[in-house]
Amino acid sequence: MRLRPTHLRSRLTLWYVSVFAALLILAWVGTCALLFWQLRNQLDHFAIEEIETVEGLFYFDPGGHLRVREDYHNHPNSKDVIERFLEVRGPGGTVLFRNERLGNRALGGVPFAGEGVGGYSPRSARLSDGTRVRLVSRMHTLDGRTLLIRLAHSEEPLYSRMKDLLLASLLVLPAILLIAFGAGYGLARRALDPIQQMAHRAQEITPENLHARLPNDDADDELGQLARVFNQTLARLERAFEQLRRFTSDASHELRTPLAMIRSVGEVGLQKDGTRAEYRDIVGSMLEEVNRLTSLIDSLLTISRADAGHIQLHRSLVAVTDLTREAAGLFEILLEEKSLRIMVEGDQCAQVDGDHLFLRQALVNVIHNAVKYSPVGGTISVRVFLEHGDRAVIEVSDDGPGIPVEDQAKVFDRFYRVDKARWRESGGTGLGLSIVKWAVEAHGGNVALDSNANGGCKVSISLPAAGPRQLRKNHSSVLAETGSPSG
Ligand code: ADP
Repeated sequence: MRLRPTHLRSRLTLWYVSVFAALLILAWVGTCALLFWQLRNQLDHFAIEEIETVEGLFYFDPGGHLRVREDYHNHPNSKDVIERFLEVRGPGGTVLFRNERLGNRALGGVPFAGEGVGGYSPRSARLSDGTRVRLVSRMHTLDGRTLLIRLAHSEEPLYSRMKDLLLASLLVLPAILLIAFGAGYGLARRALDPIQQMAHRAQEITPENLHARLPNDDADDELGQLARVFNQTLARLERAFEQLRRFTSDASHELRTPLAMIRSVGEVGLQKDGTRAEYRDIVGSMLEEVNRLTSLIDSLLTISRADAGHIQLHRSLVAVTDLTREAAGLFEILLEEKSLRIMVEGDQCAQVDGDHLFLRQALVNVIHNAVKYSPVGGTISVRVFLEHGDRAVIEVSDDGPGIPVEDQAKVFDRFYRVDKARWRESGGTGLGLSIVKWAVEAHGGNVALDSNANGGCKVSISLPAAGPRQLRKNHSSVLAETGSPSG
């Protein structure tokens, strides 16, 4: 059987009431003990005063018997003798006197060593009939003889008062606890109501309505903070979902275009009997589209693996200038076709701790863009240098049309192309720069664009430099100044 209440408000109320009850009982027991102790101290105090009074009422008759003055009834403190329990014992413990109220009952039994010597000895005792008494003893000398005077007050009124108090408390305490339970439950419900509202709202949130937000996020308390954090998470999720949705639809759109081209080229080829040369042309166009598809799928794969965090960087010390030369070398044929000049100028000491493959991919994409968008006979300049001794910077500049300022931030977005009408001519996928951005940022670096209205575009990649500082001296050299990158 499960005894733990399911609802937090019931659990909170139970904890609160239990703690409250424990504290209440503790306070009540403490108060009773203090009261009892004070009343008993008061009894001791009265008994001491009364012993001092009765000491003067005793005398020894000529026969050596202890007597109380005959006129004690007239004495103003005679009630002390009558109303209390009074016993006097001799040195050996023999009873010399017991007042009427005490009768034959012994008061405190045989005296213990040192009882009443040099002061008053208070203690509790019981009479033979069970009556609880508080007695005080005092050693007294009368006519050269030592007497032990014992005077006691009944403790029964004290105990009966404590019993009354207990009974009253048994009635009052449950009532107080009941009120505390009601108030605690109400408070807990009020405090937890917003959580319930948030839970209800959170339950309604699905991928279709990710724009919904939790209530109470304007409150300054902990719940408001919780709602705010949750809403911020929802906003991030919504953005990621939207990005994913856009990416999927863009990707399908991008994949459809080359497929449609392959299909239409194939259909045209099938419709008529062509010559061998015409079929070669058709197959050539189809292969061109297949190439486009392959590079698009490669880029999509890279991006989706990067998004899923499945790409692990295999880091090693990479010489940036050599890497740049290697990337530029891939464009030898394209450069020749467009009669472009590429100048690679580099600091041989620039090294980074990175993944050779992805850094090369980033550089290839940037240089490829420069090649694609440069005018025929233009010049591309690649510069590698160390900045402040701790950053390796690669600048790729071309004298193409440049990128309008309003598009500069967007070109790193997936599938974003500045010239939407002519992108097929350039053969780009619209994913090149987003892959560059990811690869560079994965290495702790950043990419910047610099392009003005007069044309020309400069892409700067800055990466944390690696290797011993002393090696990173500015050691620039012109590596190539030809129509294609030199080795
Ligand atoms: P793409 O594969 O289409 O080139 P990118 O992501 O590499 O895609 O670039 C996005 C867009 O940025 C390009 O479509 C192009 O319009 C613009 N762009 C990139 N680099 C250059 C450049 N060097 N000169 C002019 N425009 C550029």
